Amino acid sequence: MESKTIYLDNNATTCVAPEVLEAMKPFFCEYYGNPSSIHRFGGSVAAHVETARRQVAELLGAAWRDKDGNASEIIFTSCGTEGDNAALNAAVNARPERKKVVTTVVEHPAVLHYCEELERRGYEIVKLPVDGCGRLDMAALEREVDENTAVVSVMWANNETGTIFPVKEVCAAAHAKGALFHTDAVQAAGKVKIDVDALDIDFLTVSGHKVHAPKGVGALFVRRGIRFTPLIFGGHQERSRRGGTENVASIVGFGKACSMCHEKLEEEYALLSGMRDEFERRVAATVPKIRINGDLANRLPGTSSISFDCIEGESILMLLDMFGICASSGSACTTGSLEPSHVLRAMGIPYSAAHGTVRFSFSRYNTMEEVVFTAEKLPPVIARLREISPYWKG
Ligand SMILES: *Cc1c(COP(=O)(O)O)cnc(C)c1O
Repeated sequence: MESKTIYLDNNATTCVAPEVLEAMKPFFCEYYGNPSSIHRFGGSVAAHVETARRQVAELLGAAWRDKDGNASEIIFTSCGTEGDNAALNAAVNARPERKKVVTTVVEHPAVLHYCEELERRGYEIVKLPVDGCGRLDMAALEREVDENTAVVSVMWANNETGTIFPVKEVCAAAHAKGALFHTDAVQAAGKVKIDVDALDIDFLTVSGHKVHAPKGVGALFVRRGIRFTPLIFGGHQERSRRGGTENVASIVGFGKACSMCHEKLEEEYALLSGMRDEFERRVAATVPKIRINGDLANRLPGTSSISFDCIEGESILMLLDMFGICASSGSACTTGSLEPSHVLRAMGIPYSAAHGTVRFSFSRYNTMEEVVFTAEKLPPVIARLREISPYWKG
């Protein structure tokens, strides 16, 4: 049996890039000072945090310093989830007279579950539907965003299908009614070009571990001039917008990871979409009764969501795991529940197909050999499971 791991679950998390690990190393035992300290030992560490801030800002098209030379627009957080929570919290506080939040049915739980909390606090939450390809109902958006809407939160790209949303249009529709706009760009960052300035975005969330930085670090972009109330109160770190001593090593690593993505954005887009397209071509040619989910004309380069009729995604994953192949059914967040993912259900994917859905997600560390190997192992796995499926009619 194969012992080598073929990791095709990069939307769940990624490996830390060796260059990122190297950049982080000095900040554990050598430059371990507190960036808020007065002494030079701590102060020199603060300079590295600011370098990372610039690197994150450059990936997002954000400003690194304002005209007074102060660090601005980028707030370091502990993860993507914190960024989503902090953005929604700040947005509703910045529009205190408005009591409505407009989002989508296919958001990450970090947005959906915070919205449920806002609902308990008396907000009206509107979740916009998507079509069979996972595309947003723009007419519903235009109808729902009104003078009572504090914030519109629509993800840049979906983590399960890779479908990319028309962020520019959604942002403009929010602003037309005086609402703020937040986007969860955790999956999009480093994979497609982001320019918060050109799009006039108010809040944007990113996470380290989806872009080859460690788990437990992220950033929130907040447009200059927006009144920001923190989610976490404490010391004066991050200009009093996020209390807590900075996770310096991870922040430095995150900055390095962002600059690597920024530098190779187009090259990596071609690499990832090349592997995905070859994979899908091979699977479609060898396995009957499949459907590829998402907006095929407009999705992330490295995400492939495939439904195999009449069988269980979990069984497919278990058999693939015997070959060392790692993929995912639904999203990692729904593992353990027997319900198909909320994203596939929202797209109206029939029950029998939604249950047999596997997400393959690629990174720069995958190879075409791994793609070919996986595509070769898949047909007998699917055939074997369908043979014993009571629903399969050949
Ligand atoms: C992974 C992910 C998150 C959560 O990020 P964490 O850093 O794991 O908290 C949020 N949104 C999307 C779209 C994600 O894929």
